[in-house]
Amino acid sequence: MTSPQVIVIVDDESEDEKNSSHTKDSFEDDKMIGKATQLAAIMNFSDQSRALALLRRFRGNLEQAIDHYLSATEKVQAKKVDEEKIVTETRKSNPRALFREKDEKSHDTSTPTNTKVILSEQWHLCSQSAASLGGSFVDPDFPPTSTSLDGRRLASRTPNDAATIRCRCGLPAAAAVVQKDGPNYGRFYLTCGQNRIGVRKRRARVVSTIEQKELEENEEQSTQEKEDEEQRQVLSNNKVIRNPYQKQLAPPQPSTPSSKKTPSTPSSASSKSPLQRTSCNFFQWDPDGSRAGGYQTRYSLLHWHSFDSTNTPCCMVKSAFDPSQVRQGAVGNCWFLSALATVAEKSYLIENIMPHRDLNTVGCYQVNLCLDGNWTPVIVDSHLPVVLEKISTRNTRSLPQLAEKGGLSLKQDLFVFPAFCAAFQWQLWPALVEKAYAKAHGCYAQLSGGFIAEGLQDLTGAPTETHLLFAAEHLWPILMTYQREGFLMGVATARGGDGLVGGHAYSILDVIQLDDMIVGDQSKVTDYFSQNPQKSVKVLEQRQTIRLVRIRNPWGKREWKGDFSAGSERWTHALRKKIGDHSYRKGDGTFFMTFEDMCLRFHHLDVAKSRKGWHHVSSEGIFVGRNHVMATSERIYNLNPSESTLAYITLIQPKKRSNTTSRYWYTDPCFLIYKRVCDSDEWIFVDCAIVGIRRQTTIELFLEHSYQYCCVPFSCFAGQQGQQFPFRLVCYSGETVVIDSIPRINMDVPALEGFYRRILSNGNKLCYSVAPESVLACVHCDGCAVFVALNGSENYYVSIQLSIQLPQDGMAITHGAENGSYDIPPRSQSVLVIVACNGKLSGATQLSFSYMSSTVKVDGGKRKRSRMSEDLSCPVDLSLSGGLLLSGNYGAVKEQGRDIIDTFSWIPQLGAS
Ligand SMILES: [Zn+2]
Repeated sequence: MTSPQVIVIVDDESEDEKNSSHTKDSFEDDKMIGKATQLAAIMNFSDQSRALALLRRFRGNLEQAIDHYLSATEKVQAKKVDEEKIVTETRKSNPRALFREKDEKSHDTSTPTNTKVILSEQWHLCSQSAASLGGSFVDPDFPPTSTSLDGRRLASRTPNDAATIRCRCGLPAAAAVVQKDGPNYGRFYLTCGQNRIGVRKRRARVVSTIEQKELEENEEQSTQEKEDEEQRQVLSNNKVIRNPYQKQLAPPQPSTPSSKKTPSTPSSASSKSPLQRTSCNFFQWDPDGSRAGGYQTRYSLLHWHSFDSTNTPCCMVKSAFDPSQVRQGAVGNCWFLSALATVAEKSYLIENIMPHRDLNTVGCYQVNLCLDGNWTPVIVDSHLPVVLEKISTRNTRSLPQLAEKGGLSLKQDLFVFPAFCAAFQWQLWPALVEKAYAKAHGCYAQLSGGFIAEGLQDLTGAPTETHLLFAAEHLWPILMTYQREGFLMGVATARGGDGLVGGHAYSILDVIQLDDMIVGDQSKVTDYFSQNPQKSVKVLEQRQTIRLVRIRNPWGKREWKGDFSAGSERWTHALRKKIGDHSYRKGDGTFFMTFEDMCLRFHHLDVAKSRKGWHHVSSEGIFVGRNHVMATSERIYNLNPSESTLAYITLIQPKKRSNTTSRYWYTDPCFLIYKRVCDSDEWIFVDCAIVGIRRQTTIELFLEHSYQYCCVPFSCFAGQQGQQFPFRLVCYSGETVVIDSIPRINMDVPALEGFYRRILSNGNKLCYSVAPESVLACVHCDGCAVFVALNGSENYYVSIQLSIQLPQDGMAITHGAENGSYDIPPRSQSVLVIVACNGKLSGATQLSFSYMSSTVKVDGGKRKRSRMSEDLSCPVDLSLSGGLLLSGNYGAVKEQGRDIIDTFSWIPQLGAS
């Protein structure tokens, strides 16, 4: 007997949660409304089989429920409580709104990762109200509807919608979503009907007939559908391994999909096989994802199933949290799941994220995630997306095989398969963490495509860094150190081959150095044990150091096939013995490979510098652009360490992924750090982060106990934009650090001087002597290039005409002008132009520019100067620029010139489809 489910409506608009919808008096109403709502919801379902399945669960209570429904209709209509409403409310209210409120009360939040996690007030509230209603908890903020799967509004899901929009070919337009990182990420649009899922599959099969060269080009932007993998493996048989992201010929990728054809299909757009028609390039934005009448996405075929110990043999966790329990499902979130698998290796981390070890009767769970730099409890119910299958459609498989695959008999011939993160042996924790993560970002579909570092950061709160593995021999000792420190690591492929999947995320489980070993070269490991090992085993003579990395594919299968893979000839008995009982059995998705192979086969390495017992503290802030050259934040931040400690200071902006309804994009999150002896008035410059447009910046710093520190956030781009950019300042440190935010006007720190100090001391710059005692420098910072001019003379202005050729995409000017003329007064320095990586992951890697200069004698009258250059100029400080001016005098003065600089490396998203 299953009890009827009750949808608990949490009134978002109530001022005070405690006094509104959850008082005892209102429970009876809630119950009635809840039942009526559920019935109404069932009746609204266009999917009949699902409605039937839900109706079955009503069992004996159906009649009663109908009564409730009828008697409550008026009330329901008054409150407009139907599925549509729940959905709209969810969309318009930020899923994190409830936590924001709490956050504001205690401005600075701190969650030490080592203390026992206490379940939030909200969890108690949700589970108590669900329990008192005698049902299981159904999360109104993330209801078990299709909206939670793909984020689309439910309006026109019926296939016979008269307003079906057709593409130029006359087909019903296909629904799609922008997956490329950028301001348009997550927006719905309509595209040519030929790009529908069914058509795509047929095309994928045709691909093999297309010229290899063309395919390679497509592979550049392609994503990893499982069916593509076979072709990839064939392709990679030519052993030329190069870094595909170094490729200069990459076709320009406009940021809107209108000219991009289909962003999702690897084979459709540019490859013209005689067997297929080209798509008509139809494009139209679809504001809420409901315009495509009768469309089908991969999500619209899924169902929801409530998992609790009474209806399924499931549990939260069987014995211990284990990375092998994390298995990727239908959404392209390998980047998140490989991070989750790495995190599962550390009990102190995973127990912080998932405080429950058992299922509870109301099916209400809390998952703790570090969202946008702030530890946040996310409440989820026990409904998980599933695929329902009739056993007859799988008659080739026996029942045990189905169970192995995760199939669960629901009713005689009906089987349930988890659709996303598979619940291996029906342990629900990975699926519930994934669900909480989906809720935090709006829906499951929005987890498609991302970065391992992003996943690691959201699960640990620790700062992350990314290393390109291209020519990265020097990384080995760093990797060993990271492993010793217990840092979390993941690696990503660019292209596949030899068992590896292209554009895919993997976890690093172990880093092992074995000195003085003999490497096997025998045909089979078992040969070693044969009668005459001397004859059957060819052993390389010299002993050598072997550098091995143990890696795991979040699919839980599909392994590396090269050296030191499960069946590799490289293994000797001695080697295996040395490594111990680590799994090197084939088929569980884990494998060994050499560090050298890893650098060749993988594109980049992501690291989260997570340390047990470290402290995480943060404070909110905002950049307010006022059309001024440099937006400093409204508040500045005092950091007071309780002891001397290593710390990571991060300036992080809210994630684009959870904001798909506006064209929100990031600004350049720069900041300055000063220190002073407590109560002294003199601030000493410590460090400055100058970066391009991106989500976050981190600097590593040793905070001394005897000093007080001050962080001054600033942004050049925000300054020009005249809009607001919220951010959060995070301090991750070994000892407790207290952050006090104070209004900027209460403290005067020499911001401009710190900025120049950092720019001029940067060793990575090109210098041009543009006039006697005058230098133009192009300083290459992290993701940005700053053009700064110094005029050391006493008696003339230097006039510089700077012209910068921006590539089509990938870079933006955050200060100054592309084609600007600048006058630098005597004895002063000025930042002319700042070119920043725009954070949209384009292939642009080079920036070319030219300059012309002239001098004008000082004639007493002041020369006219552009306001922009005035704002970022200051008197020449010889302690900063003396050396530079001197070196400028060294060479001949050239009044004009041009140059090209290599600028930015970029990291592709993983798992986007
Ligand atoms: Zn078309």
